[in-house]
Amino acid sequence: MVEPFDPTSLEGRDPLECGGVGREISKIAEYTIECPYCGNPSFRVEEYVYEVPVFGRILLSVGSCSLCGFKRRDVGVLEEKGPKKLVLRVRGERELRYLLVKSARAAVLVPEVALEYTPTLYSYGYITTVEGILYEFQQAALVACSGEQSQQCKDILAWLEKAVNGEIEFTVIICDYDGLSKIVGEGVIEVGLDEECRALTGYST
Ligand SMILES: [Zn+2]
Repeated sequence: MVEPFDPTSLEGRDPLECGGVGREISKIAEYTIECPYCGNPSFRVEEYVYEVPVFGRILLSVGSCSLCGFKRRDVGVLEEKGPKKLVLRVRGERELRYLLVKSARAAVLVPEVALEYTPTLYSYGYITTVEGILYEFQQAALVACSGEQSQQCKDILAWLEKAVNGEIEFTVIICDYDGLSKIVGEGVIEVGLDEECRALTGYST
């Protein structure tokens, strides 16, 4: 599993010193807006753009509120494509290793087993793999199922175990509402946002 990239690790550092992250990194904006949590005009955002192999230009955004301490971080690809639905059929280990960017506002679905991740105020963006997405679901299922012995819990945990091991074919769907997400690999289908994505409730501003 690839550890989710942690953009807060850049906080307090001169971005020009972060040579290991990307070849060229530059701060493109710094501004203060209304805090999404407490509503005060005290939410400071810094945005960086840097070049990375595979993805190209990446936008990194780190924000924090000086009054309530609320923090947000996001990451996304800078492509002129706009909102879209990404669909990938995972047939085995090859697709499990595909790299992807999931921006903070993106939703993730695995329709075969009705796994659904919808963004909240606390969601953040990260770079991971398809396998990493399964681990996210696995962690959530372990928490939700702790102390519970229902058949549904057993079934979903058993399914996730097989999926992580590349023993099951399944579909990963990313509803990319802000056009910042991307899956890198062959066989990724990009279509417009449809009813399946629009029907999901979640953080939408
Ligand atoms: Zn605040």
